[in-house]
Amino acid sequence: MNSTTYTVVTLGSHSALQILKGAHDEGFPTLAVTNRDTESLYRSFAFVDEVISIDHYAEFMNLVPILEDRKVIIVPHGSFVAYLSLEDHKEMRVPYFGNKAILDWEASRELQRQWLSRAGLNLPRQFKTGAEIDRPVIVKLYGAQGGKGYLFVRDAADFEDRVNILGERDYILQEYIIGVPLYIHYFYSPLTGKLEIMSMDRRYETNVDSLGRIPSRAQEGMDIEPSYVVVGNSPLSLRESMLAEAYRMGENVVRVSKEICPPKGLFGAFCIETIITPDSQFYIMEISARIVAGTNLFIDGSPYSYLNYSEPMSTGRRIAREIKNALLSNALGEVLDDASVI
Ligand code: AMP
Ligand code: AMP
Repeated sequence: MNSTTYTVVTLGSHSALQILKGAHDEGFPTLAVTNRDTESLYRSFAFVDEVISIDHYAEFMNLVPILEDRKVIIVPHGSFVAYLSLEDHKEMRVPYFGNKAILDWEASRELQRQWLSRAGLNLPRQFKTGAEIDRPVIVKLYGAQGGKGYLFVRDAADFEDRVNILGERDYILQEYIIGVPLYIHYFYSPLTGKLEIMSMDRRYETNVDSLGRIPSRAQEGMDIEPSYVVVGNSPLSLRESMLAEAYRMGENVVRVSKEICPPKGLFGAFCIETIITPDSQFYIMEISARIVAGTNLFIDGSPYSYLNYSEPMSTGRRIAREIKNALLSNALGEVLDDASVI
């Protein structure tokens, strides 16, 4: 195996420690691209072989010509979509783990909805007009980020009363699903065609996760809008009788992804964000087409990854294992975006 000739590189944020530790454990040299604030943190870890520091993550594109001249593979995470545009992603020719064609389907709420509904998943109802609202609704402003910018509406009359807050902005009216959130982390191997459930988490979000701490009677008239700003994650194991459905949802999402982004579809790490109702139905809020930060709970492996690997297998390490297996079978192109120059 000549994995030592490729360096695994990622941005110093989000799940970079997990990705670089996993790459190191699989035998790859590692490179963290940091900013001035995070540089010393990443340098402090022995598994980070090299650090390149830039002023702002948004300047990552300036580094691309240097990376294109080296033998590196980018493993993207949530900060890439936060700091780089879709155009930036497509412009880079640096070997990139994943299929960039999926980014368009992920970025648009409409396309994502088409993808997930073609995969037969339950989605919250959407209403075209305020008058149609017949149940509690979450109003999602376009471009809302970081869990802020949502409005919670009780019924059509409540919407009518408050619609002026929204002004000229575009929004969607989505049924509010009352249940418990569960984020399921998957890995799909294009080399073996096998799907694995790697781990699961629930998010800890402020202020929504604290509203239950004030009796509803006391909340009346306080004019609190729920926000969903993530501050951390907790582990979860799913009732085993619900696991088959969780697995089936992942399989269906992958199957349809091959139809919408042929031939490779979605591969590598991904996550389905669900809310589970009292009748054990999974409703899908969103899909993330890459490693999510909730996997950071499982740098040492999860109960689920232990079923497939009798060694610590984080999602970050699983990605590096896939790259290594691809190199060993002379099939690196299978695990990289097609625009990658290798
Ligand atoms: P950051 O690099 O921390 O700015 O995060 C990049 C993106 O990932 C942002 O959209 C964050 O909301 C999201 N993110 C970061 N950490 C977590 C986490 N622990 N759980 C869920 N999402 C996260
Ligand atoms: P999103 O921006 O879609 O990732 O959603 C942010 C947070 O809002 C997540 O914790 C979701 O669980 C929650 N959320 C989003 N849509 C709904 C919905 N239709 N019903 C209930 N909760 C939702």
